[in-house]
Amino acid sequence: MTALSTASWRKRAACRGIDPDVFYPVSDEDAEEAKAICSMCPVRQTCLEHALVHREREGVWGGATERERRRILRQRRKSA
Ligand code: SF4
Repeated sequence: MTALSTASWRKRAACRGIDPDVFYPVSDEDAEEAKAICSMCPVRQTCLEHALVHREREGVWGGATERERRRILRQRRKSA
C-alpha cells in the first residue's frame, strides 16, 4: 500500500475528528464505542488489512482489537 493510498482511505474514515482515545481502550471490554463507529465505516476492511500488514499492536483497527487481530493472523497462518 502506498502512502498516497493510505492517505486516501483515511480521508473516508468514520473515525475522522473523533477523539483518538476512543480507539485505544484500556481493555477489550471497553472497545464497544470504537467498534460501533468502525461498524459504520466505509473503509473498515482496508483499515483492518492495514493493521494486520503493519502489525499494529495497539488500538482498535477495522473493528478489531489487538487480541482479535492476533486471532485473525493465527487463523490465516493455519489456513495458508
Ligand atoms: S474501521 Fe474504525 S479505526 Fe478504521 S478507519 Fe474506520 S472508523 Fe477508523
